[in-house]
Amino acid sequence: MAGGGLAGCIVALRLAECGMRILIVEASERICGNHTWSFHKTDISPLDYERLRPAIGYEWSGQQVIFPEFKRKLSTPYASLTSERLRDTVYAADGIEVLENTRIEQIAEDGVVLSDGSQISAACVIDSRGFAPSEGLKLGYQKFVGIELELGKAHGEDVPTIMDASVDQLDGYRFFYVLPLSDTRLLIEDTRYSDSAGLDFDALHSDVLAYAANRGWVVKRSIRTEKGVLPITLAHDAELFWGGFADHLAPIGLRAALFHPTTGYSLPMAVETANIVAGLKAPLTTAAARQAVFVHAQKRIADQAFYRFLNRMLFQAAVPSLRYRVLQRFYRLPQLLIERFYAGRIRRSDKLRILIGKPPVPIQRAVGCVSEARALAKERQVVNG
Ligand SMILES: Cc1cc2nc3c(=O)[nH]c(=O)nc-3n(C[C@H](O)[C@H](O)[C@H](O)COP(=O)(O)OP(=O)(O)OC[C@H]3O[C@@H](n4cnc5c(N)ncnc54)[C@H](O)[C@@H]3O)c2cc1C
Repeated sequence: MAGGGLAGCIVALRLAECGMRILIVEASERICGNHTWSFHKTDISPLDYERLRPAIGYEWSGQQVIFPEFKRKLSTPYASLTSERLRDTVYAADGIEVLENTRIEQIAEDGVVLSDGSQISAACVIDSRGFAPSEGLKLGYQKFVGIELELGKAHGEDVPTIMDASVDQLDGYRFFYVLPLSDTRLLIEDTRYSDSAGLDFDALHSDVLAYAANRGWVVKRSIRTEKGVLPITLAHDAELFWGGFADHLAPIGLRAALFHPTTGYSLPMAVETANIVAGLKAPLTTAAARQAVFVHAQKRIADQAFYRFLNRMLFQAAVPSLRYRVLQRFYRLPQLLIERFYAGRIRRSDKLRILIGKPPVPIQRAVGCVSEARALAKERQVVNG
């Protein structure tokens, strides 16, 4: 496994469960980085949930959203993996060996070359090195800074606030995300759906502390911070994207753009990929893994066309300070539809339901967002000057 992040570790664990021997080669000091990876319990099957259980650090029985016009509680359970627990699960797994502080310079079909020039051979090499830009993707960004805070007294929050958008709308659609990690501990993130990838860490860091103060939460100490700039797909040219990979590469995770187009979250798709690769006939080869992931990704890209259209409406049709209206309207829909949306399983009737009624953006601008080919052509014009 070339890269020991979320996808690499989830796939490695699944393959180890099938009795395979895996080596994870990770460039940084430790596999799994410094994250909290959250998901809706309904994103994955109950069996996959049980498989992930050892790495799950937090579970909640529901969640809520807050918009200027209303507040809503949903009974959809929510859960988070922590880097520590995923790392410990991988370290403890039979059949997985981990090589940290080891940068891969080159990937071949039958092995890798490390930065010190040494080589490791393997029948199957999976490229899980994380996100890489591609001309085949036109992106907006979900950027955030999160701080885990220990408070002086109990905060009283019992479920995660997935979006509190009742705040000043800065730099696009802006909301706070709040995970209650214990009675006195919160992870608070200031998140913006923005046109630019630039992240002003200090400004967002202060804004998180100001939000906590505003909610009346007295901070005793800061435990850790995390930051992210996640890709939100506005348009995806499957041919151009996959054409960017040499034939011998088998990418997974963000490297293969296997993330939710509207949230940038990739955990459920990493689980899906793990099942696909684990279902291949032994002995596993790079070519077989690539072909299986390629076929799966093509289907995903086609299935996600509607999501990308909604994203274009959000980023290109809505005035940045009014983008929140798109989400506010979405969250008035039935809970089961919302769950299917996040799980990447919306139905034709859901699409109609999402579109029907008075649009939250000017109709002419919404019509201008329909063509994905036009969005890609515009992007190429920008890139090529
Ligand atoms: C702060 C943050 C929070 C997020 N929260 C969520 C969340 O709550 N839920 C969710 O589903 N998604 C979340 N995401 C989005 C996405 O799911 C994550 O980015 C996820 O980690 C992507 O998984 P990945 O395995 O594709 O890439 P990564 O997890 O980034 O893993 C890539 C790994 O490859 C290693 N690597 C890179 N190059 C080399 C090389 N040359 N040699 C060896 N190793 C190499 C890297 O060091 C890294 O460990 C979050 C992202 C961030 C940044």
